[in-house]
Amino acid sequence: MKSHTPKAAPHVTQNEALIFERSQPGRTGYSLPPLDVDETPLDELVPEEFRRDDELEGLPEVSETDVVRHFTRISTWNYSVDLGMYPLGSCTMKYNSRLNEKVARINGFANLHPLAPDAEAQGALQLLHELQEHLAEITGLPGVSLQPAAGAHGEMTGIMLIRALLDSRDGVAESNSPRRNVMLIPDSAHGTNPASANLSGFKVKTVKSTAEGLTDLEALRALCAEGDIAGLMLTNPNTLGLFERNIKEICGIIHDAGGLVYMDGANMNALVGVARPGDMGVDVIHLNLHKTFSTPHGGGGPGSGPCCCTKELEPFLPTPRVVKDVRGGDETYKLDFNRPQSIGRVKAFHGNFGMAVRALSYILTHGRDGLREATEAAVLNARYIAQGLKDDYDKPFDSPPMHEVVFTDKRQSRKGVHTLDIAKRLIDYGFHPMTIYFPLIVQGAMLIEPTESVGRGELDQFIYAMKQIAREALEDPETVLNAPHTTRIGRLDEAAAARKPVLRWKAEEQVSAA
Ligand SMILES: *Cc1c(COP(=O)(O)O)cnc(C)c1O
Repeated sequence: MKSHTPKAAPHVTQNEALIFERSQPGRTGYSLPPLDVDETPLDELVPEEFRRDDELEGLPEVSETDVVRHFTRISTWNYSVDLGMYPLGSCTMKYNSRLNEKVARINGFANLHPLAPDAEAQGALQLLHELQEHLAEITGLPGVSLQPAAGAHGEMTGIMLIRALLDSRDGVAESNSPRRNVMLIPDSAHGTNPASANLSGFKVKTVKSTAEGLTDLEALRALCAEGDIAGLMLTNPNTLGLFERNIKEICGIIHDAGGLVYMDGANMNALVGVARPGDMGVDVIHLNLHKTFSTPHGGGGPGSGPCCCTKELEPFLPTPRVVKDVRGGDETYKLDFNRPQSIGRVKAFHGNFGMAVRALSYILTHGRDGLREATEAAVLNARYIAQGLKDDYDKPFDSPPMHEVVFTDKRQSRKGVHTLDIAKRLIDYGFHPMTIYFPLIVQGAMLIEPTESVGRGELDQFIYAMKQIAREALEDPETVLNAPHTTRIGRLDEAAAARKPVLRWKAEEQVSAA
């Protein structure tokens, strides 16, 4: 093992050796009590042929403090929602209350066996049923399945419902009549929309946006006239952060063409408690519990993407459904598998149950007024940033944004400073970068979503940082172009990054060695 002698304490030098490099022969991190039973020979435990011959070789020999401090130091290199504002547009990186985490860890919920019979799982089934009812109320769509495990999974489930309804309505199975096969998707859509449509066997046609950033109704009508329309997948507010104010007309056009409207509800943080997709004419929607309803995300899951639909689509929802049985004065809950028109299961057991617990806890602790207030604060915060930065950055759309606002690098790029550079420089000011180069239809996009979790003080700090960067881009572009300057790993050559990241301290060592 290579020995390692840092010049000062590792958290000062920023020089963190690998846990392997910290290894010292003979060090251990545990001490077991003396054996008070007969030792079982290894052969009786694991037969020879199943044993690895590299046993323990190369594992680091370290003390408990070595391990705890090493990983604690590394943990401080991460940015997180608990550390500060996380303005990643389209992701709704809100702060999630610890209370919801605590509720999800209640033993009866956390340790319930997924195969427990209905009679022994009444509390969990009741929780799922209540959450379904709340989501139905929030979306204005009465049929709810909690099975889908992510937003994209909810999309796929939703358009499979559309497929099933159209086939049954048009009698495809009996008559061999042609299937309606075209799914219309605006060019501002999240990439998962066309992917879900394609995966579910639809042919995707793109609807363009107007200069105002909304769905082009003329283009939509023209596409509908071509026939074969199965439906439309529409995000509202759209990924430009704008409310599609013609949504009722859009739904009318699709319904008149014989299709159904799927709404991508990942942006519901702008609508909850204020407006309901069901009232706008939408037939089916998915929600991202891991954006809007308090499941922490960003680490790769688990998530939850419930699907909510009209009465007309409800028979096709995945099995089993959680239903309430009222007999005499007794209410019991059960899983109903007898759904002959169902598209079948899309996820094992009840979906990601822990996410359902968090979501219900979030909904109940906020209440109706609280949910509305969260939405209003999310929109107000985005508008405050829109207003605060409009003199420094190009804002391609005039309309006031909903929960997120898009700017571009148009002014800064004249000095050779691009969106990527601005995002990197933001790190030096202590913020996680915004979403960059999305939506794709906006050149040099910076999509900023503050969420309701930040107060005015933090918004002002963010605006200050962005204004400083705009000034630097004009007066001292090199500082922005070489950012970040305060992190352990400096600016990567993005093209070469995948091949060979450069550690700042290594680069510095090489400089001092030379
Ligand atoms: C996040 C998001 C999705 C996909 O959600 P996942 O849970 O990541 O699959 C879909 N559409 C929009 C608009 C989103 O923001």
